[in-house]
Amino acid sequence: MSVTENRVSSTPIASESGLAWGEHSPGRLSVDTLETALAAVPAYRTWRHLDPGPGSDIDARYARMPALTKADMRAHGVRAFVPSGKDFDRGIASGEIECVKTSGTTDEQVTNIWNQKWWNASERASWQLHSSAAQSLAGSQPEAILTSPLCAGMPCETGYLPFEGRRLGRFLFLNEKVNPAEWTREHMDRMVDELNRFQPPSLEANPSFLARLARHIVSTNRKVFQPRIIVLTYEYPSLLHYRFIREAFSSPLASSYGCTECGYVFMECEAGRLHQNSRFCRVDFLPFAEEHGGPLLGRILVTTFQNPWCVVVRFDVGDLVRLEPSGACPCGRNGGITIAAVEGRLKNVTVNPEGKAVTQRQVDVAISRVAGVEEYQVLQTSRAEYSASIVCGPSAAPPKCESQVAEALRLLYGPNAKVSVTTRGPLSPDFPGKYRLVKPLIAIDPASFFS
Ligand SMILES: [Zn+2]
Repeated sequence: MSVTENRVSSTPIASESGLAWGEHSPGRLSVDTLETALAAVPAYRTWRHLDPGPGSDIDARYARMPALTKADMRAHGVRAFVPSGKDFDRGIASGEIECVKTSGTTDEQVTNIWNQKWWNASERASWQLHSSAAQSLAGSQPEAILTSPLCAGMPCETGYLPFEGRRLGRFLFLNEKVNPAEWTREHMDRMVDELNRFQPPSLEANPSFLARLARHIVSTNRKVFQPRIIVLTYEYPSLLHYRFIREAFSSPLASSYGCTECGYVFMECEAGRLHQNSRFCRVDFLPFAEEHGGPLLGRILVTTFQNPWCVVVRFDVGDLVRLEPSGACPCGRNGGITIAAVEGRLKNVTVNPEGKAVTQRQVDVAISRVAGVEEYQVLQTSRAEYSASIVCGPSAAPPKCESQVAEALRLLYGPNAKVSVTTRGPLSPDFPGKYRLVKPLIAIDPASFFS
C-alpha cells in the first residue's frame, strides 16, 4: 500500500452490521472459495485441471494454481468473475454492485466489481485487529480524510472549495489539491482549523500528505485536534512519515493495507505488526530465495472470501512483505499471517551491483536514520549507480545530510555502489498523487528473486 494502492473509501458507510455468513473458519472458507471458483466462475475454467482434488491438502491445492494478474483481469472482463447463479445485469440495475476503474498507469488500471456491502464488512472486520480502531470506529462516526483528491474526495486545482463543498455524508475531505509540494501555508492552516472545528473521532490519511501537514503544524507551533485514531492508507508509509506525524499527533496510528480488488487485507495492531484480515481473505506467501532476502521476505497473493458477486483467487497485488520472525505478536492475535512490515512494491525493488534485491523498505530504513532529511527519492540509474534527491529541514545543513545519505546508501548497496546525492526543493508525487520513493530505471527481472 502501497500500502493500499487504489483504495476507495469515499462512499458513505451503509447501516448494515455485517454479512450473515461470517462464522465459517478461514480453512473452510479457503476450501469453499476455491471450489466455487473452479466450479462456477468462468475466469477460472482453465485452472480446473490443475486441482489435485478435494482429497488433497488445501494449501497444496492453492499452490498448484497460478497467480491472477491485472492483465488477466483485463483480459477476462468483470463478468467472468461473477459466480454462476448471480445475475450481473440485475446486480448493476439494483445498485447492489457497480463497476469501478482503479487509478494508475495503463498497466495498472483494472475495472472491478464494487460491492459496497462486502467492502464495509471487510473494513469492519479489519478494525478488530487494532484495539483503538475496534473501540473508536463504528462506521457511523464523523471522519476526516487527507489524501489526493484523485484517490478520494473532490479535486479542485483552480481556487479552493468551501468546507461544505468538501463534505460527503459523514466525511470531510481536508484537501482538494493533488500536489502537497504546492500547498500554501494558508491551505495547511485551513486544514488545521477544520480539524479543530470538525473534531473527527477518526482521521484517515495518506501518510506522505499527513506528514507534510504535520511538519507545518510543528514548524508553526499550531495546536491541533487529536483524533481517537489515525488510519494510514493509500500509499506506502515511510518511517519518515511516521516520525513527522508523531511529532504533531499523539493519536494511535494504524496502517491499513488493502486494495480495490481485495478489500482490507492487513491491519497494523497496537504492537506495530500487521495482522491478516482472515475472515475476508486468504494470503499465500511466496518467499524470495535466500540470497535475495528470503525466506521471511516475499510477495503475496490474495484470495477474497465471502464476496457473493466477485471471486478473486490468488491475486498478485504486486507488494512484498516481511513475515514476523517469531510468527507471534505481543498483542496475542494469531489468526492468519503476522507480518513485521510491508516492504513496498515489487516493481520498486532495486539491486546492488552484485544483483541482490534491495527493497523499498530497506532503502527507507537506511535513509530515515539520517537526521534532517524530510523527503527523498532514490533512483537506480545503472547496475551500480544510484542517485538520491533529498529535501532537508529548515535547520539542517544540506552538505552534511547529503554525505550522510550517501554513506547510508553505500552501506546498503555495498562498496561497489556509486552514489550521488542532491538537495532539492519539495518533491512532487506521481499521478494520481502517490510518491514513489524508490525507483529502478534499469530492467530488473523479478522472477530472478524467487528460487
Ligand atoms: Zn499484534
